[in-house]
Amino acid sequence: MIDKTFDHPRTGDVKPTVPVDIPKMETAFSALGLSDALAFGVQEMGYVTPTPIQAQAIPVVLQGGDVIGSAQTGTGKTAAFALPIIQRLGTHGKLRCLILEPTRELALQVEEAFQKYAKFTDLRVTIVYGGVGYGKQEDDLRRGVDIIAATPGRLLDHLERGNCSLANVDILVLDEVDRMLDMGFLPDVRRIVQQCPKARQTLFFTATLPPELEQLAGWALRDPVKIEIGRVRSPAETVAHAFYPVVATQKFDLLQLLLEQTDFKSVLIFCRTRMGADRIAHRLEKSGHTVGVMHSDRNQRERIEALQGFKTGKYEVLVATDIAARGLDIAGVSHVINYDVPENAEDYVHRIGRTGRAQNTGDAFTLVTEEDVRDARSIERYMGVSVERKKIDGFPYIYSALFDEKALAETAAAAVKPASRLHRGARR
Ligand code: AMP
Repeated sequence: MIDKTFDHPRTGDVKPTVPVDIPKMETAFSALGLSDALAFGVQEMGYVTPTPIQAQAIPVVLQGGDVIGSAQTGTGKTAAFALPIIQRLGTHGKLRCLILEPTRELALQVEEAFQKYAKFTDLRVTIVYGGVGYGKQEDDLRRGVDIIAATPGRLLDHLERGNCSLANVDILVLDEVDRMLDMGFLPDVRRIVQQCPKARQTLFFTATLPPELEQLAGWALRDPVKIEIGRVRSPAETVAHAFYPVVATQKFDLLQLLLEQTDFKSVLIFCRTRMGADRIAHRLEKSGHTVGVMHSDRNQRERIEALQGFKTGKYEVLVATDIAARGLDIAGVSHVINYDVPENAEDYVHRIGRTGRAQNTGDAFTLVTEEDVRDARSIERYMGVSVERKKIDGFPYIYSALFDEKALAETAAAAVKPASRLHRGARR
C-alpha cells in the first residue's frame, strides 16, 4: 500500500499519513454511488448503514440536484451533504464549495466532519468565523482552499477585504437556515448568495419553513428535491426522558442525587440563564465534579476549550445555555439534564437531541418546579406525547403535592405572572 501525506490547510500540520491504494468497495455507501475512497473512509469511521437522509440525499447531490431538506440534528445530515460534495469536487482546485452555518460551533463541527471525510483526497478545507483574529484565516485563504465552512458576518468581511472570491462556487450549502433567520442573518445570507454564480448547486437545510424562508428558498434554489426526515417535533426514539417534579429550593439537591444515582459517562446540563449556568457549574465543581461551561458570555477560546474538554473526557459535565443545544454533535453524551425547563418547547427537543445520537441510547431528565408546570405541559403538547413524572426514593421532598398534577396546575396558574414570563427571553 502506497502512503502519501497531504498538507493540512487549517492547522498547518500535516494530514495524517493515509493509504491511497483503496480496495474495491461493495458496501451500502458505494451502492449509493459513492467512490471507493469515500466508502472506504466511512467504513473506517465505523458507519455500516447509511441513515435515511444519507440514503435519500447522496444520490441527488451526486447528480447535481438542488435539495431542500428538513432533518433533525443527529440524523447524519452532515455526511449526507459532505460525502457527495467531496466526490463532486474531486481534486484540489479553486474555492468551489461554501457551507454557511449560523454559529461558530456548527461551522467548526462541519469543518471537522469535512476534514475527516476528505481524508483520502487532497481537497483543502478551512473555516472562517468571527470572534478571533483575521491573520490565520487570511493565510489559509491565501494558500487556496476548495471548501469553506463559514459564519456569514466574517465571510462578508473577508469578501470585502478581497481575501477570497465566491466566483467559482459550484456548490452552496445553507445549513440550519431557520436558525440563521432567528439570529437576524438573513440579509447577510442574501448578500453572500448574490456573490455566488447563478449556475450552481444549492442545498438548503431547515427544520421549519416560515414564509421568509420559503421566499428565500424560492429565490436561491432551482427545482429542489424535497427531503423530509422525521418530524422536528419528536425527539429521537433512542432517548428515554422523564420529568422530575421538585420545588425550586431543592433543585440543586435533587440534581446532586440524580448525578450520584446515575451511571453516566458524560452529562450535559442545560440552564436557562448564563448566570444560572455559572452558578451551577461552580457548585458542581465544589462537590467534586469536573465541569466545563458554555454560554454566550464566554469568549470563543473558552467555548472551544469547554467543548473540547467535554468531548475528550476532561470534563464529565458540561453546563450550557441553549447556545449549545442546536445542532452540536457531541458524541457519546449519555445524559442530558434540564436544570431549568426550556422556555420554548422546540428547545426541549433540541436539548435532548444532544443524547441518543446516531445509534446510541440516552437519558434526558428535566427538573420541573411548580412554576414550570405549564411549560412542561406545552412541551408534551408540542411533541404529542406525555412524559413520565418520576420521584426519587429517599429524597426528602418538602412539597409532596408536586406529584398531584391537578393541584400543581392550579398552583402554576396562580404563580405564573405574565410579566415575569415576558422577561425570560431577554435573560439568555
Ligand atoms: P449529524 O446529524 O450530521 O450531526 O451526525 C450525527 C452523528 O452521527 C455524527 O457523530 C456522525 O459521525 C454520526 N453518523 C453519521 N452518519 C452515520 C452512519 N451512517 N452510521 C453511523 N453513524 C453516523
